[in-house]
Amino acid sequence: MENLTRKILIALVLGVIAGLLLNFVSDTVFVFLDTYILTPVGQLFLNLIKMLVVPIVFISIALGAAGLKDPAQMGRIGGKTIGFYIVTTVIALVIGLSLAFFIRPGHEGIFDTTNAEFNAEEAPPIMETLMNIIPDNPVSALANADMLQIIVVALLFGIALAKLGEKTAGLHKLLEQGNDVMMFLVNFVMYTAPYGAFALIASAVGDAGVQGLGQMLMYMLTIIAGLLLHAALTYSLAIKLLGRASPYHFFKNFFPAITVGFSTSSSSGTLPISMRTAQERLGVSKSVSSFVQPLGATINMDGTAIMQAVATMFIAQVYGVELGFSQLVMVVLTATLASIGTAGVPGVGLIMLTMVLQQVGLPVEGIALILGVDRILDMLRTALNITGDAACAYIVDRSEKKKSGTLEKG
Ligand code: ASP
Repeated sequence: MENLTRKILIALVLGVIAGLLLNFVSDTVFVFLDTYILTPVGQLFLNLIKMLVVPIVFISIALGAAGLKDPAQMGRIGGKTIGFYIVTTVIALVIGLSLAFFIRPGHEGIFDTTNAEFNAEEAPPIMETLMNIIPDNPVSALANADMLQIIVVALLFGIALAKLGEKTAGLHKLLEQGNDVMMFLVNFVMYTAPYGAFALIASAVGDAGVQGLGQMLMYMLTIIAGLLLHAALTYSLAIKLLGRASPYHFFKNFFPAITVGFSTSSSSGTLPISMRTAQERLGVSKSVSSFVQPLGATINMDGTAIMQAVATMFIAQVYGVELGFSQLVMVVLTATLASIGTAGVPGVGLIMLTMVLQQVGLPVEGIALILGVDRILDMLRTALNITGDAACAYIVDRSEKKKSGTLEKG
């Protein structure tokens, strides 16, 4: 793993360099290289890992639920997890808003907004997503990779297995073997990660263009500062105080998964790797990891929340709109819902941003200004998104082990 992480990091650095160099070739050459080499290689890698997501999530949650000793434990883990997710998202938003307030990345006059155009895609209504959590057809839930629905079906399936015990031992065994096959495949797919990472970052940097990056520098730096602060303060303190463990140990061991989250820009896509990393390198038990991390990859997006907070302030500043206190509270509320509703796939955070902007009456066209650099920011925020899920799994696992008296020093 160590070796592989190093290779991915080298691939990322080379990818950035290649992407920057691509700014100096002619448009035709760039389009050719991007269309026939970079994008296909990146896409093949993304498909390879995405292919594993649905079976892994289903099998591991079902096994996790089947393995839980008492039903009360499930409720307790669920409560702690959702509590952690909501509180950290709100903190992330406050960090994003405060930084954007003080740094003022969108101070008046940096953009001419007369030509800004953006066709807003309809953001899916949150209530509908929540109501649809119980699928009327489990097969279509699996076929459509609807994570929340899959989580529910798998939990019910696992609970039934636990209740039926010996009677369904064969099925239980089958799932365990399925899990082994999946883990084997994750290992295999990881070997292709450096190539995928190189192609994805080179294409993203090449696309954004050096000029575009320059003009958006303050906006990007504000978001990056928010992401770093949230990891260094919120997660570290939570791990230290709630998990009674070393943040350094956590970040060091989870780092390989962070590089994959960064490369793929997809929390869901990274799940196979982030779950395996948390289980094998942080010692998080399978039952906790397989519930907490898929749930987080679906509803917990602190990095996305930070982007949405900064973007909202940025657009308000560019258009010279002063947001009052009650509007800021509105931003926190809607952005919390928007980040819950953001699917863990590339670029969705930006679509959900429309919901926040509309709520406080800001022009949705403002999104056109940040579109160009969003691919790169998507990589960074996804890295934080999956880190938050793993931090939660680590903390919840340790508190469960403490309760049962099996906690080792972390
Ligand atoms: N790409 C992000 C994720 O998968 C979601 C987003 O902010 O667009 O976590």
